[in-house]
Amino acid sequence: MIKENLQEVERRICEACKRSGRDRSEVQLIAVSKTKPVSMIEEAYAEGIRRFGENKPQELRDKYEEMEKDIKWHMIGHLQRNKVKYVVGRAALIHSVDSVRLAEAIDQEAEKKGIVMPVLVEVNVASEESKFGVRVEECADFIENIAKMEHISVEGLMTIAPFVENAEDNRKYFAKLRELSVDISAKNIDNVNMRDLSMGMTGDYEVAIEEGATMVRVGTGIFGERNYNL
Ligand SMILES: *Cc1c(COP(=O)(O)O)cnc(C)c1O
Repeated sequence: MIKENLQEVERRICEACKRSGRDRSEVQLIAVSKTKPVSMIEEAYAEGIRRFGENKPQELRDKYEEMEKDIKWHMIGHLQRNKVKYVVGRAALIHSVDSVRLAEAIDQEAEKKGIVMPVLVEVNVASEESKFGVRVEECADFIENIAKMEHISVEGLMTIAPFVENAEDNRKYFAKLRELSVDISAKNIDNVNMRDLSMGMTGDYEVAIEEGATMVRVGTGIFGERNYNL
C-alpha cells in the first residue's frame, strides 16, 4: 500500500509542478512517519524515500538510531528546550523554531556538538490561537535577532495551515508565507537565506506547491491514517 500511495503522491507532485511551471527537483517530499513503526519506514525507504518527518524528539532519536544513516530526519513538531539535545546532531533540519529561547538552546547544543544547525522559522500565517509560530508582523525582527547566533543557520520559513475541507481555502496563507519570505530575503540579513518554504500536508500539498513550496510534509497520504490510541 505504501508503494502505491507513494506513486500517487509523486504523480500529484509532478502535476502540481507542471501546472505552476516548476521543475520537480524544486520540491522535496518529506514523508511524515510520526507514530508509524520502523517497518513502514523501511517500506518507504525501499521505494527510495530518504527524507522523513517526525514531531516527537525522542521518537526521532530512536528512529534515527535504528535506521539507515543516509536518511535525512526532519523535526517538524513543536520543540521544547529541554528536548533539543535529542534532535541537534540527528535532524537535518528543524522546521519549528518560534522563540528566541528555543533558538538559543539549539545554538548552545549545536556549539557543544561542533555543528551548525539548519533551521526554519515557523510562522503562524493564519493567526490561529491554537497554533505555534511567530506572527507575520514580528517575523523579520525575530529572524534578525536569531541570525546573530553562530551555530544555527536560518534557511527559510515553515507554516502549518488551518485544517480545511477545501484546500483552496489555504491558498492565501501559502501565498502569504511566500510573500513574507521574499520580503525577508530582500533585507539581505547576514547568515540568513530564504531558500526553503516548508508548507503543505496531505490535504493541501498540491496548492502549496503551486504557491511555491520547496518542501511538502505528507503523512496520511503515504502511511495512512494515524491511530493515537495504540
Ligand atoms: C503530522 C504533520 C504533518 C503531516 O500531516 P498529514 O495530514 O498526515 O499529511 C505535516 N506537518 C506537521 C507539522 C505535522 O505535525
